[in-house]
Amino acid sequence: MRTALLRLANFIDGDYRAPIGGAYLPVIEPATGQVFAEVPASNAGDVDAAISAARRAAPVWAATAPSERARVLRRIADEIDARAASLAEEESRDSGKPVSVARSVDIPRAAANFRHFAAQAETFASESHDGEAGTLNITLRQPLGVVGCISPWNLPLYLLTWKIAPALAAGNAVVAKPSEVTPVTAWLLGDVVRHAGLPPGILNIVQGAGATAGAALVAQRDVKALSFTGSTATGAAIAAVAAPQFKKLSLELGGKNATLVFADADFDRAVSESVRAAFSNQGQICLCGSRILVERSLMPRFREAFLAQVAALRVGDPREADTQIGALVSAEHLAKVQAYIALAHEEGGRLLCGGSRIELPGRCQDGYFLAPTVFDHLDMHCRVNQEEIFGPVVTLTAFDDDTQAIGFANGTPYGLATSVWTRDLARAQRCARELQAGIVWINCWMARDLRTPFGGVKASGVGREGGLEAMRFFSESKNVAFG
Ligand code: NAD
Repeated sequence: MRTALLRLANFIDGDYRAPIGGAYLPVIEPATGQVFAEVPASNAGDVDAAISAARRAAPVWAATAPSERARVLRRIADEIDARAASLAEEESRDSGKPVSVARSVDIPRAAANFRHFAAQAETFASESHDGEAGTLNITLRQPLGVVGCISPWNLPLYLLTWKIAPALAAGNAVVAKPSEVTPVTAWLLGDVVRHAGLPPGILNIVQGAGATAGAALVAQRDVKALSFTGSTATGAAIAAVAAPQFKKLSLELGGKNATLVFADADFDRAVSESVRAAFSNQGQICLCGSRILVERSLMPRFREAFLAQVAALRVGDPREADTQIGALVSAEHLAKVQAYIALAHEEGGRLLCGGSRIELPGRCQDGYFLAPTVFDHLDMHCRVNQEEIFGPVVTLTAFDDDTQAIGFANGTPYGLATSVWTRDLARAQRCARELQAGIVWINCWMARDLRTPFGGVKASGVGREGGLEAMRFFSESKNVAFG
């Protein structure tokens, strides 16, 4: 017997609504390859309806006391906590990630986003400057009005709420467009905010494809700022439309991050964290370290220990508690990652482990599982070492000295994050200064503090998320001078 598909809806003006055109896209469970839901294929009319609702609601929310905004945001966080188990199950179902990862990372961080920006709402300040000849300058930071938030599929609720929370905290009304690949937790967020008492129209969630719903949101003139996380190619397409309208833009894009391991590093931590950085979320985190650069003298020992740990990673049904590597997000993405494995062979790489699809028994027999894959013998300039793969495929490369290590790390179009493993403080400081990356981790990986700026340089984007930077992004600065 065929079970009925879960039918998702848009969340507009405080209510769930079917898409105007009545069209839907299938939502597939990556672990099984089966369609389990359908998501609105919204069009420009749906986006316009959401923007109209946001425009009507924006002035009231902007005039709401920051303490009251903060109170509502904290209630949203509490509501997410209360529903954490079911949200994690849904996050795992449409993304393919292990439910344990959704439970320990994605969902708690989504709640943390609202709590953090509740505090920011209460402390966000306008500055005043005593000027020359008795003038007083005040920098007023005011809400922009209606803002757009567009997010990817890899950390669905976490990344979406990292945009929504500061936008709301700064007093804006939001139209959000989650990824059509992983729409379920964003759909559930509508009910969460309604229960938490967010007034209608302040958060609107329009589901659908990027080329239609996303593009309509980007093009709409009433949207004053766009915060986008996704691929570099989409970021460029969005900038081409939004920049001539002089919208504020924050673009968090792709990465090709390096992990630098020096011979003096704490060996055990360097190995285990390199493995984590390489394969967390099936290598589908923008911050994953996919190029592992190791000082030549250490390489034989490192390679052996690294491969042993990779071989021990448990690939399995995302629902099982001991699964460490789940399914890739879609058949298309699996095919793309497999094409890079073929390319690595063509480019002369030596396969050290993995390299092929894994067929699991039972309910996951048609799932998109790929063995964690490691190559070496690849030149730093080859495509596999230059282009973002965004999957469980990494390379090992030896370097001879600090200058070469930094050169290798910087030698791609991207500049998102680098993780450095050394006990030498002077070397760590040099790396921090010279690495072309928005984030440099010294002896850690993915240590995130919501107060700090987050973002990339070069093809990894412009703009910074996180704490005060995000509050300022979602505000208009106005200078008022008293003579
Ligand atoms: P994507 O660019 O395909 O899609 C991202 C979002 O943009 C989706 O919601 C999509 O529907 C929408 N979109 C697509 N075309 C659009 C258009 N023309 N106009 C408006 N919206 C459009 O990215 P993805 O495949 O969902 O995510 C993976 C990418 O995201 C990787 O490149 C990864 O590195 C990047 N990423 C970056 C960060 C970061 O913080 N820098 C974090 C996570 C993921």
